[in-house]
Amino acid sequence: MAGVDQYRIYAVRYGHRDTVPAWEAFHKEHAAPLYGMDYFVWAITNGQRTVIVDTGYSEEEGVRRGRQFLRSPVVGLAELGIDAGHVEHVVLSHFHYDHIGGTALFPRARFWVQEAEMRFYTGPNATRPAFRGSIYLPDILSVVTLNYEGRVAFADGDVEIVSGIWVHAASGHTAGMQIVSAETSRGRAVLTSDASHYYANMDEGYAFNTFVDLAGVYRAYDRIRALAASPDLIIPGHDPLVLQRLKPVAGGIVEL
Ligand SMILES: [Zn+2]
Repeated sequence: MAGVDQYRIYAVRYGHRDTVPAWEAFHKEHAAPLYGMDYFVWAITNGQRTVIVDTGYSEEEGVRRGRQFLRSPVVGLAELGIDAGHVEHVVLSHFHYDHIGGTALFPRARFWVQEAEMRFYTGPNATRPAFRGSIYLPDILSVVTLNYEGRVAFADGDVEIVSGIWVHAASGHTAGMQIVSAETSRGRAVLTSDASHYYANMDEGYAFNTFVDLAGVYRAYDRIRALAASPDLIIPGHDPLVLQRLKPVAGGIVEL
């Protein structure tokens, strides 16, 4: 593949928290250093086509949970020359509060979701305490409303949403978790979102402590490795190391 179907991938930080306890960052026994957590949206673009992955938390909900809201994701995207008001394709990796709180920032977009995610968060298990805590109800209602407005595109598994950019079902963290892959000049790259919060989750084989299916989390790690052309083309969802390992473009923005 060449030319138009190769993309550049950017991670745009919009939020942060200083401390994530080891018991949260890694399920089961794991001697971990003190971790922080960054919150990103991602942009995949070739200048003509742009896909945004996730929309961040709303400032209200992030701050209520003690997260820093560094800036609107819209401001970060603008630094890349991307006008959120004109974005047509947004992937919602899953329905947790820190990924779907900003759908209103993209008034012209269609939102790609996995059918299994919508089923789960409108179904009988959505209100179980272990799952209820990771969502913000107004966000879920927004996605339901978008669906009735004809602005949700459903995937059931793997779908090429535009030429060279795919969503892939990777259930485990949530029931309808999806990851995104895109062709780059160095081969296929993978945005894991919360299929792997940190590099260390995948590298060391200890899941983040929030999941519906631990075996599914491990299958997702295998899928990510199989999809990526090389390990350095994998971008985890929340790791502050992303800003150190990728190429700086602007404050809080890095390029793969
Ligand atoms: Zn997250």
